[in-house]
Amino acid sequence: MTESSGAGRRQQLARWFHRANVLPLAGRVRDALFNDLRILAYHRVLDSSEPADFDFDLELISASASDFRDQMTAVKKDFVPMRFDQVIDCLDRGEPLPPRATLITFDDGYDDNYRIAFPILQELGMSAMFFVSTGHIDSGAPYAYDWAVHMICRTPADRLLLPEAGIDWPLPPTIAGRRQVASRFLSRLKEFPAVVQERLVATMEQDWSLPRAPHMHCQPMSWAQLREMQAGGMEVGSHGVHHRMLAKMPHELMIQEINESKAMLDRNLNLPAQVLSYPVGGFDAFDEVVVQAARSAGFRLACSYVSGTSRLQSDTMYSLRRLHVERYVDAAWFRGMMELPELFG
Ligand SMILES: [Zn+2]
Repeated sequence: MTESSGAGRRQQLARWFHRANVLPLAGRVRDALFNDLRILAYHRVLDSSEPADFDFDLELISASASDFRDQMTAVKKDFVPMRFDQVIDCLDRGEPLPPRATLITFDDGYDDNYRIAFPILQELGMSAMFFVSTGHIDSGAPYAYDWAVHMICRTPADRLLLPEAGIDWPLPPTIAGRRQVASRFLSRLKEFPAVVQERLVATMEQDWSLPRAPHMHCQPMSWAQLREMQAGGMEVGSHGVHHRMLAKMPHELMIQEINESKAMLDRNLNLPAQVLSYPVGGFDAFDEVVVQAARSAGFRLACSYVSGTSRLQSDTMYSLRRLHVERYVDAAWFRGMMELPELFG
């Protein structure tokens, strides 16, 4: 079964549930049985879902501005939006979370989070957590995976040739074809150690004379923007320094990456960072050693990118699951994901 046919089926099922109006009841029954934490995961929110000359990773566009507003309105109306610091307070006091507790998170720290998502959240009186990679805030450089997609879309070359990775793939002439190659490439790339991943992307930059440079479609937020968001009720957490897969780094460098990201956040913002989101975040991106390093660095909670919800307890605090919002998730599907995450998440 392909991902898209699976997604199509879930969408159809969500529409049927929506029409039959069974989701609210099913959700209430579920919530009487489990008291788990829903954490929504977003990356980018853009005005329109695909600007004409946009040649970065489309998979990272989580929602259009209007879909995001609708989703937040639904969360506010029918769930219990919380902040991470409130969840940590509950933990410290040994109190259970309220039923239907929901957290909203953003990974990576794209400037559209500031320009588009932040005003919508403020308008609705809601908060969200923004996980940022501190090295990109300082440099303004696009993220490596995103730049790889950009290069594959842009290069006049007709082959992607990386002998070190055993890759010699033709590059089709169409942008749609190139996006498919880029997606396959990112999956392959993420299998390698972090240092090899960086070398491979650097090789592409060099071979194709497309050095990484600031780009208006792939801009990290600045410290000033993050401080303004924090003053406006938003929370900021760590997504590493260089967006490296922590479990694929040498031990000392991994510890350094986690500690340095926390030190940078603590130095530049008004509150100490309490929460970490592991870059990439699947089971190959963090492990027990990484969890221990996050705990030792002083983080109180950590989010994975594994799909699902979590009961808040000692063995889940550093591997919290999240519900991924993608740009093709429509209103019925979003409702299904929130009410019955096991089926639609
Ligand atoms: Zn990320």
